[in-house]
Amino acid sequence: MFSQNLIFTLSEPEKKRPIMKFGTAVNCIDGRVQYPVLDYLNRNFDLEFFDSPNEAGPLHILTDRSDQCRLISLKEQIRVSVEEHGSRLIALVGHHDCAGNPVKREIQEKQIIDALAYLRRAFGKHILYVGLYVNEQWKVEEYTRIEPET
Ligand SMILES: [Zn+2]
Repeated sequence: MFSQNLIFTLSEPEKKRPIMKFGTAVNCIDGRVQYPVLDYLNRNFDLEFFDSPNEAGPLHILTDRSDQCRLISLKEQIRVSVEEHGSRLIALVGHHDCAGNPVKREIQEKQIIDALAYLRRAFGKHILYVGLYVNEQWKVEEYTRIEPET
């Protein structure tokens, strides 16, 4: 009953306000990459919030797939962001000097391609997938993207 009242007392501008827009940043737990990635996403995508499914070396988790515990946990975090928050952007991050995924950039770029294809199979073709790499100067570079199919 209370919520009914609330609906009828909304002013016109409030009614037209779009629903909250979420994106998803699948990032490493590494403290050095949090701000650069969030800053990059805020500057490049017109979204209000970025959910943060995190793992130590998510590229390793998503391409090796032998650690089912961490894989299922990471995918569940992404699922909530996509299904409950309606995210239509999944950014996946690799970075320089990753303790959880200690391989060179060329390998991480291959992992990004593999992991994005895997996530696309899991979460659908209607989502924009972006692969990011945080370089040795802690600057974010877009490595690849897969546009959504409409
Ligand atoms: Zn890392």
